[in-house]
Amino acid sequence: MNVTVTSKLPSVGTSIFTVMSALATQHNAVNLGQGFPDFPMSKDLTDLVNEAMNKGFNQYVPMRGYTPLLEILAEKVSGLYNTSIDAGSQITITPGGTYAIYTALTTVLQPGDEVIIFEPAYDSYIPNVEINDAVPVLINLQFPEYRIDWNEVKRKITPKTRMIMLNNPNNPTGSVLREEDITHLRAVVQDTNILILSDEVYEHLVFDKVPHQSILRYPDLLERSFVCFSFGKVYNCTGWKLGYCITSPSLMEEFRKVHQFNCFSCHSASQVALASFLKNKESYLSLSSFMQEKRDYFQQLMMQTKFTPLPSYGSYFQCYTYANISDEADKDLSIRLTKEIGVATIPVSAFYKAGTDNKVIRFCFAKKKETLEAAVRKLMEL
Ligand code: PMP
Ligand code: GLN
Repeated sequence: MNVTVTSKLPSVGTSIFTVMSALATQHNAVNLGQGFPDFPMSKDLTDLVNEAMNKGFNQYVPMRGYTPLLEILAEKVSGLYNTSIDAGSQITITPGGTYAIYTALTTVLQPGDEVIIFEPAYDSYIPNVEINDAVPVLINLQFPEYRIDWNEVKRKITPKTRMIMLNNPNNPTGSVLREEDITHLRAVVQDTNILILSDEVYEHLVFDKVPHQSILRYPDLLERSFVCFSFGKVYNCTGWKLGYCITSPSLMEEFRKVHQFNCFSCHSASQVALASFLKNKESYLSLSSFMQEKRDYFQQLMMQTKFTPLPSYGSYFQCYTYANISDEADKDLSIRLTKEIGVATIPVSAFYKAGTDNKVIRFCFAKKKETLEAAVRKLMEL
């Protein structure tokens, strides 16, 4: 008997990150493609995980998360953003930021709902909307600064608009929201039933002393927002796949209905470890300058190449245009760089549904100095 299924995501293939990392391995290339650090995570934090396991924290924690971790997160939000949130009813620990986003969308989207997504967009957003039978409404960030055109947002709002998805700092562009963006956002959603999903997985990685415009700063917006975070991304342990979502108590009640039958509760020892690690504020306050140093070092090295930088204000990515070097498609260039020059990158057209090609490729600079130096030595051959 032939068993068949109707694909829920017929147009989806393998993610560009997986494709480029596999190609990098195959050609022994320096991998500045997929976003993950190649340096070790904090030993203090791994020691705390070992200690937690040895002390017996190996059974389920509550569905919403380990209580001391929720409490320290609420304290952190209050200290950083001056917003008071309730640890028990407004935070849920999730297996990664991607899961938090998927769960939020699945919690609220009904068939036919429209969701505004800015492109270039992180690869999971559109499939996450489509699998819920909702409709992505795509708006280009304005090249080359990758800012939001709020007039276009206003034009695209319809009675079916259910949600606006933000990614701040932005992957792949490194752009960040400014205070005026929040003013526009507030004006757009005021007196509507529109929800916001704010993907802030690069929360602490905002550079040049610019304040992170987290939705958590704005209690009136938080009431209608799901704000998603990733411990993996900021604490240099992407393989942990641990994150969290913050929202209003009533939206969180619905979020947990979905979460409890999918994951139920997340890895306990990591949560116990993070609860103690985050007591030291330096564990997160030091992250921006640490990563900014890497951005600056990479930028300085890249000046020896023919690539032209686009600004990176946050995240651990920097985009470069190669328009003055070659007119080949960005995917072709990324493949050629991996195979012939030995450096893997990500073509930014992969973040557009229509494959828009502005001749821009993304580099991940969350790497050891030696890795960045080795990559740039190779790129100088171009
Ligand atoms: N959103 C963005 C913009 C990301 O870059 C990532 C990193 N992969 C995620 C979400 C997901 O993070 P996690 O690995 O915690 O699922
Ligand atoms: N967020 C990572 C990136 O943008 C990749 C994570 C993944 O491979 N899904 O490179």
